[in-house]
Amino acid sequence: MTVLIAGAGPTGLTAACALMQRGVPVRVLDAAEGPATTSRALGVQPRGAEVLNRVNAMGDLPGRGMDIDFVKAIVDGRVVMHLHMDRWKGRGLLIGQSEVEKSLRDRLSALGGKVEWGARITDITQHEHGVTVRAGERIEGDWLLGCDGAHSTVRKLVGIDFPGVPLAERFLLADVHLDWPLPREGVTAWLGRDGMFAAFPLPGKDLWRLQADLPGADPVDVVAALKAMLPDRTGLRADFRSCDWTSSFTIHRRLAGTYRRGRVFLAGDAAHVHSPFSGQGMNTGMGDAENLAWKLAMVVNGRAGARLLDTYERERRPIAEEVLSGTSALTSFALGLGFWRRLLRDTVILPLLALPFVERKMFGQWSQLAISYRRGPLGPHGDRDPEIAPDWTDGRWVLAVPTDHDPHVAVARQFLGEDLLVRTGPELKLVRPDGHLAWHGRPSPARLRAWLHATLTS
Ligand SMILES: Cc1cc2nc3c(=O)[nH]c(=O)nc-3n(C[C@H](O)[C@H](O)[C@H](O)COP(=O)(O)OP(=O)(O)OC[C@H]3O[C@@H](n4cnc5c(N)ncnc54)[C@H](O)[C@@H]3O)c2cc1C
Repeated sequence: MTVLIAGAGPTGLTAACALMQRGVPVRVLDAAEGPATTSRALGVQPRGAEVLNRVNAMGDLPGRGMDIDFVKAIVDGRVVMHLHMDRWKGRGLLIGQSEVEKSLRDRLSALGGKVEWGARITDITQHEHGVTVRAGERIEGDWLLGCDGAHSTVRKLVGIDFPGVPLAERFLLADVHLDWPLPREGVTAWLGRDGMFAAFPLPGKDLWRLQADLPGADPVDVVAALKAMLPDRTGLRADFRSCDWTSSFTIHRRLAGTYRRGRVFLAGDAAHVHSPFSGQGMNTGMGDAENLAWKLAMVVNGRAGARLLDTYERERRPIAEEVLSGTSALTSFALGLGFWRRLLRDTVILPLLALPFVERKMFGQWSQLAISYRRGPLGPHGDRDPEIAPDWTDGRWVLAVPTDHDPHVAVARQFLGEDLLVRTGPELKLVRPDGHLAWHGRPSPARLRAWLHATLTS
């Protein structure tokens, strides 16, 4: 069996590594002539880092990314919010998307896979037992994952709608070499009457990501526009040296009507797009990919029935809905659209964000560590297991038992075979390959058998 993957962005590459890691052959087809070199997303959130660890693609990223100490918001020259990023230390990273993609490609190649560049999918035909795509030549596969980004051809070809609305007319981004009196240990955002301006330090001596909103739709010189607004919006002066990359785009929020049509699944930006505020896009895509890949691998390898695949959309679409509403609220709040909204933001909401319990809650959401599938089809458990989730388990389930001879081991082995890793520990629990709790509670091999039977054999 072969899984075809459309798109070698972070979503497609994560899916490819996670499938190959479980022995499932893949063909990764990408329309581009070669890897993208621009930074784009720059935050690997703590959960994204765990996903990279679990597919063994973290490589040397930790040594090359940056840890940040604070996130600061400034209104009229006054610091109104100062978040201490201690909780993030050593768990997430500030690093460009192209570096993350390279690390995933290296891992894919170590697993024996590769990306086929210049392979644009232009047609898809599904039949009972497989999928045929046209990407120059005709290519046959058993399943197709549409990880081909926001303008997904796969989504369009299989007739899945993508409803949504624009959130901000125009947003400017630039990665620039800059000399200015701003500490490089954190992220600073200035929120003003005319709009916002934000500065993120990037790995390197003087490299910064600058972001600002600018109403209107006419083409602009992004660097010239940022240069012109920087003194007014930040109150600082800067010496622009050179520019690595710019972008100007409209922020949309859109969610695919469904994540699956027959043998075709959507994941990542092909399934959902939202505001870049709080850096959720790439991380949500990698999370989709991991969730789908372990389930698809179990079905392909004959360890689970096809019904397990229905749980992908039922677990991941609600996560995308939450990300869409959280990032939309954050965007209109940061852009301060309207006098009353601005007043509420500056006098109530921003000061609240610095309170320890609000900060904790935000950490849970932005880091994506609070993601839970408790209300999903494989519940009633489903929270992330903080003990197992950060580890590399080679894509396997983990059963923690008090002793090696525990009777639950034989039951789990019967269903999971070599896909099971047994660890001794005080708490009896079964953890899914994506680090979420599958089953725990009172010792009862019969209950464990019933759960595995219901989950895997239909
Ligand atoms: C300017 C910009 C800034 C951003 N900033 C952030 C940020 O700060 N934080 C964050 O989390 N996210 C950010 N994002 C979003 C983030 O980049 C995306 O969420 C992420 O790239 C999604 O990954 P993906 O793999 O799903 O899709 P993509 O990265 O879009 O990859 C899709 C791949 O599919 C290929 N493809 C397209 N059509 C076809 C076809 N017909 N056949 C075969 N292959 C095809 C493309 O060549 C591409 O390689 C930003 C995005 C942009 C554009």
